[in-house]
Amino acid sequence: LAKKQGKNGYAFYDINLENESLEKRLLENAMRDAIINQQFYLEYQPKLNIKTGQLIGMEALVRWNHPVIGRIPPGKFIPLAEETGMIIPLGEWILKESCEQIVKWQEMGYPYLPVSVNVSVRQLDDNEFINKVEKILKETQINPAMLELEVTESVFADVKNAAEILQQIRNLGIQVSIDDFGTGYSSLTYIKHLPIDTLKVDQSFVKDIHVNEESRAIIKAVITLANSIGINVIAEGVEMKEHVVELVNEGCKLGQGYYFSKPLSVQDFEQFMQQHYRVKEK
Ligand code: C2E
Ligand code: MG
Ligand code: MG
Ligand code: MG
Repeated sequence: LAKKQGKNGYAFYDINLENESLEKRLLENAMRDAIINQQFYLEYQPKLNIKTGQLIGMEALVRWNHPVIGRIPPGKFIPLAEETGMIIPLGEWILKESCEQIVKWQEMGYPYLPVSVNVSVRQLDDNEFINKVEKILKETQINPAMLELEVTESVFADVKNAAEILQQIRNLGIQVSIDDFGTGYSSLTYIKHLPIDTLKVDQSFVKDIHVNEESRAIIKAVITLANSIGINVIAEGVEMKEHVVELVNEGCKLGQGYYFSKPLSVQDFEQFMQQHYRVKEK
């Protein structure tokens, strides 16, 4: 594999390369077991009206707790799951689990709030994707309006009939949002022609909105455009009071981030709902 012919005819390994692919293969195998052994679970991060503090929904985020390695961050295993195709069964599990959870909360008497689920490009590229989503809607009996799928901008470059697939998703009554918006290549005017409900402004613009004129200008432009074509904007990575002040100033109504809450376990999210949900005022 990474064997190279050395000077004296000895074969040697490129240690770094070998380690990298070994780690990948170990993780890949571990991931197969993890699905079976239920090592994956979800956390939920609140989404709020940043002006009133009203809880308006949540984002489901997958977590992996390996019995030996410990917690492995999604930034590490999601790309690998995408590369190996493991994201297909894992993504299906995540979607079903999220839908089951919010139906369960509603049945327990908690407010029926929409859940946003990250979907990777690789899943949208799967011919069976729409069928799988339909099946999950049926099985869980979730109101499709309570489900939102978050996709990244790269979907328009990487999936051949992306607009068509997004339209099929919306035809099921599900919402679509563009995650990490502003980091990809889609121009603002292009967005107008796509079946999208919400733009999720990437945290890199929010991070320095209070000190960086450029970030503020970008967020302002996104909000102006979104308002004019009737789509929502949510800011992610809201970490400080200063972020909230600037976002409110620019007319951004929704947000999520550590300032309000980190992603929470099921139990902690229940507590959060008890503390933060208020019946909408007219
Ligand atoms: P994302 O979808 O953009 O999710 C937001 C990430 O930002 C999450 O990281 C979240 O914990 C983190 N975050 C939330 N608030 C703040 C904040 O105030 N400051 C900062 N610095 N970060 C904040 P996480 O959970 O580590 O996930 C990282 C990425 O992994 C996600 O980015 C998403 O692309 C992917 N991912 C996570 N869960 C799933 C999943 O269930 N399915 C798929 N396909 N991808 C997932
Ligand atoms: Mg997301
Ligand atoms: Mg994402
Ligand atoms: Mg994001």
